[in-house]
Amino acid sequence: MIPMDIQNHPDFDNHETVEVRQGKHLSAIIAVHNTSLGPAVGGCRMFPYAGMTDALTDVLRLSRGMTYKAALAGIPFGGGKSVIVGDPRRDKTPELLHAMGDFVDSLGGRYVTAEDSGTSVADITVLGERTRFVSGVAKDDRFGGDPSPLTARGVFTGIRAALAHRGCASPEGIRVAVQGVGNVGLCLTQMLIKSGAKVLAADVNQRHVARARELGADILSPAEIHAADVDVFAPCALGGAVNRDTIGEIGAGIVAGAANNQLAVKEMGGLLLDRGILYAPDYVINAGGIIDVYYQRQGNRNHDSIAAHIDRIGETLGRIFRASDLRRMPTSEVADEMAEAVLHRPATGGRKAAA
Ligand code: NAD
Repeated sequence: MIPMDIQNHPDFDNHETVEVRQGKHLSAIIAVHNTSLGPAVGGCRMFPYAGMTDALTDVLRLSRGMTYKAALAGIPFGGGKSVIVGDPRRDKTPELLHAMGDFVDSLGGRYVTAEDSGTSVADITVLGERTRFVSGVAKDDRFGGDPSPLTARGVFTGIRAALAHRGCASPEGIRVAVQGVGNVGLCLTQMLIKSGAKVLAADVNQRHVARARELGADILSPAEIHAADVDVFAPCALGGAVNRDTIGEIGAGIVAGAANNQLAVKEMGGLLLDRGILYAPDYVINAGGIIDVYYQRQGNRNHDSIAAHIDRIGETLGRIFRASDLRRMPTSEVADEMAEAVLHRPATGGRKAAA
């Protein structure tokens, strides 16, 4: 049952289900956007939101992004996401994680969860004590539960596609500003440096800064990373990196990173286009993790198949960039159109009406 105020939220976008749970141990929301292509799969984010309203805005935007991500990644998943209101460093308890597991279980498999910002493989394993609808907890030498390295691989492929679109054949010698060197940002930094790129990195967490420095990155302050004079700005922290304050200051010709919801508002896509900045739509370039989760759920351990699937992200981005040039349309809107075309294909049954 969806209360009226949720249905009237500007980001509601015909969500099939939005469930809120507020109890002794847990304040959380699960949003299932669209299950036309399959069960909704998406991470469980834990963040010290100012309140449930902020949490709702985040979860609605994130779950819609998951629908579009799966559609363009060519995997039979729907879009969903969950958020827990709380500080992951302070408020995480077994009781909270068990309560979240019960919450996920109450949806009976329409939503399958995994780790996300603020939650780890270990946390999802605890959730999994209460529900079987969890992903990303498989243990294997080559295919660990954490999808971050494969997300980073997809972002690296996407950066190469953006560079190629701008006539640059190799990352060697290019300069990349990585905002946020957590799980994905650090792997990306490593891949970039290995391929001969120069990385400037910033993070609010000094431990993460130290790890990036050890890999050979130069360090900038979080306040100035977006404005660095580089070829590529790679947002790999939280959402909203491209916003009214930063849009005029972005120093790179390409924005391509792992973070979800990089555009604070939709209009930023047009402003990037006007400024001649090539934007790799977030849910396209960061699909490596969900592709990995798909193969994990299939029990498929064939690294070559997974890698080949992830590398197709570059081809999809190439198509988006070319269509954007041709139609003088923001890449974010081209991607939305392409994803909606997949969702409306007769074979998928089309988009389901809101519950
Ligand atoms: P993470 O929490 O491990 O890393 C995020 C990093 O950003 C942290 O080191 C944090 O300290 C830093 N950070 C936070 N605010 C910052 C700021 N203002 N300036 C600079 N640094 C800041 O998360 P992650 O798993 O690496 O994911 C990064 C982003 O990519 C998230 O938006 C996530 O939703 C998205 N994403 C991740 C995956 C995945 O597989 N992990 C998949 C798809 C999308």
